[in-house]
Amino acid sequence: ENARPKRPDWLRVKLPIGENYRKVREVVDKNKLHTICQSGNCPNMGECWGEGTATFMILGNVCTRSCTFCAVATGRPTEYDTDEPQRVAEAIATMGVKHAVLTSVNRDELKDKGAEIWYQTVILTKQLSPKTTIETLIPDTKGNWEALYRMISAGQEVVSHNMETVERLYRPVRPQAKYERSLEQIRRTKEYGKRTKTGIMLGLGETQDEVYKAMDDLAENGCDILTLGQYLQPTKMHHEVIEFIHPDMFDLYREEGLKRGLKYVESGPLVRSSYHSERHVNV
Ligand code: SF4
Ligand code: SF4
Repeated sequence: ENARPKRPDWLRVKLPIGENYRKVREVVDKNKLHTICQSGNCPNMGECWGEGTATFMILGNVCTRSCTFCAVATGRPTEYDTDEPQRVAEAIATMGVKHAVLTSVNRDELKDKGAEIWYQTVILTKQLSPKTTIETLIPDTKGNWEALYRMISAGQEVVSHNMETVERLYRPVRPQAKYERSLEQIRRTKEYGKRTKTGIMLGLGETQDEVYKAMDDLAENGCDILTLGQYLQPTKMHHEVIEFIHPDMFDLYREEGLKRGLKYVESGPLVRSSYHSERHVNV
């Protein structure tokens, strides 16, 4: 029996209860929406939903990719729901969300990679909730830059694309993605004039130097904001947690990231890409 690392105390979280939590749940269910909070078994649901925020996942809940850390189902998506943008926009308006985070599965089988649904969702959300700021956490468009520009041209305040891990671990962790291509997508998003953001999970077996290399690459490619959080294994079928990174180490990484030219680093065991996202609008 090999000794798997045990989940440390600093990863204990509040249970999701309370009035706001119930309200968010009701709106999500009623509008038949998907959230990455639920799909990803996020440990912050008590806090985020309790504050009336959620991260909506558009373009269905079946993904064409099979990242080994991710709890979203892999398969051939059948859903192409042109009514979804309206329902998402209405849910955000009903909830009175001040800052909305939108994300999606990968739709590699679609010619436009889902760009049109993305565009409509942001446009309609802005129409119904003009004061609401929006972060779009978009998939990689596989080098289809036209699709990328469509996705990011709808007036969202922040465009995020997650690197997820260091370069060496792409094959075991993100087999259908490419490190250089994701960097290029971030660079192009910056050149297009958007505020750029990315997230990396720690504890997948990366070394400190590999994290620093990723930070340098991100700063060089115009990334403004970086989130660093502890990877947690959603089920036994998923990538193992190799290490639980100590909170002090997360603090050190924050300082290093800033030294290396990133404008804002959100770093801590429970940090997720969409955690404290409203703070990133003004970076
Ligand atoms: Fe949802 Fe993000 Fe909050 Fe987790 S951190 S509950 S995914 S909004
Ligand atoms: Fe999960 Fe995104 Fe990877 Fe799909 S592309 S498996 S949704 S992390």
